[in-house]
Amino acid sequence: MKVRVDELPDTGRVIHFHKTDAWLASMTEDTREITLARPVEVDLELVPEADSIKLRGRLQGAVQIACSRCLQDFVLDLDETIDFTLLRPLSVDAPHEIDLRPEDLDTEFFDGVTIDVDFIVAEQIFLALPQKPLCQPNCVGLCSGCGAELKRESCRCEKIDKVSVFDALQFMKIDK
Ligand SMILES: [Zn+2]
Ligand SMILES: [Zn+2]
Repeated sequence: MKVRVDELPDTGRVIHFHKTDAWLASMTEDTREITLARPVEVDLELVPEADSIKLRGRLQGAVQIACSRCLQDFVLDLDETIDFTLLRPLSVDAPHEIDLRPEDLDTEFFDGVTIDVDFIVAEQIFLALPQKPLCQPNCVGLCSGCGAELKRESCRCEKIDKVSVFDALQFMKIDK
């Protein structure tokens, strides 16, 4: 969805929409495999201001994502507040203002004509994802030795190799 800035009333406009999984897939080439477990519901208010457009609202839904420890897919609920500022392009008559670049993630420039709401919503979804998603806070993950999925099965390392490094060192001492 694209919104034309010149069609926004001065008091702003409230939009509500939902987005499906096919939409998210079309919005990204992210290598992490993320699918929407539920459609994303978005409430968004767009308010024009002198040098920017304020976007405020809420995004709710759920993604299916792989746990970074046990690699199993799980459902992660999303409930994010949107509080975002789109800066209108700087005037060419005011070159000194070029130093005023947005430094935080909640501010971006746009072309001043159309607001790509889809792009912004997709971006907010990806920003909401944790760097290391965990299926549960204390997920025990996989054994680094045998690869056992420790929350469902026991470690097989003992059975695989009964000779420990310690045993090997003892043997070397006796040999001297
Ligand atoms: Zn896990
Ligand atoms: Zn193991």
